[in-house]
Amino acid sequence: MTGRLAASLAHEINNPLQSVIGCLGLAEESLAEGDDEDLDEYIGMGLEELRRAARIVSRLRDVSRPVASDDGSPTDVNGLVERVLTLTRSQVKDGEIEVVRRMADELPKPNVVADRMQQVVLNLVLNAVEAMSQGGTLELATWYEEGRDVVCLAVSDSGVGISPDLRPHLFDPFFSTKEEGTGLGLFVSQNIVQEYGGWMEVESQVGEGSTFTIRLPVRRQG
Ligand code: ADP
Ligand code: MG
Repeated sequence: MTGRLAASLAHEINNPLQSVIGCLGLAEESLAEGDDEDLDEYIGMGLEELRRAARIVSRLRDVSRPVASDDGSPTDVNGLVERVLTLTRSQVKDGEIEVVRRMADELPKPNVVADRMQQVVLNLVLNAVEAMSQGGTLELATWYEEGRDVVCLAVSDSGVGISPDLRPHLFDPFFSTKEEGTGLGLFVSQNIVQEYGGWMEVESQVGEGSTFTIRLPVRRQG
């Protein structure tokens, strides 16, 4: 898969970089003309494109990282959710999205690497936001299932939903229905969750929305 990853990396990174070059060129012209208003816009656009490139790089870095190199430490899943909501505040606001929290008061702490699990939650929240271009409700829920000794986290949106024929491909690398998608978000997320002995489930209704649920064992076997 390395060859495909490299090709995808080159393509995905090159697009935003070309845009940054264009924006900086325009900014330079505006500066020469003393045109402050456009300058702002070009710098803002350039920044956004650089952020996009950085996001793609960090996703790819996650794919190539060695598996299970770090067992992690007891992690507050509710805290992770809050961090992700802070990180995505601007996207959530832009999209006119209402955030609903249904978090368990007392949640056992699964052993995970917080950074990696944060990446998973971030991927799910960004997908949810992207599914609600007309606005909607983003719901985050956590709970504990005593029987299976798992901490659960569900990310729900009231967005476009997923048609049944796409369902089998969601977790395939490079599967994306988005013009700018890498198709790596769910692939990487599932890998990370499985690394910790967990699993992911999807429920969706076209036109009504989707729920992605992660279950993480509190005490890992082996
Ligand atoms: P990307 O977001 O780059 O397209 P992902 O792996 O994150 O890649 O998602 C793969 C595909 O799964 C998306 O392109 C989209 O078609 C579908 N998908 C994922 N999450 C959702 C969601 N919450 N609502 C609707 N479709 C989704
Ligand atoms: Mg995604």
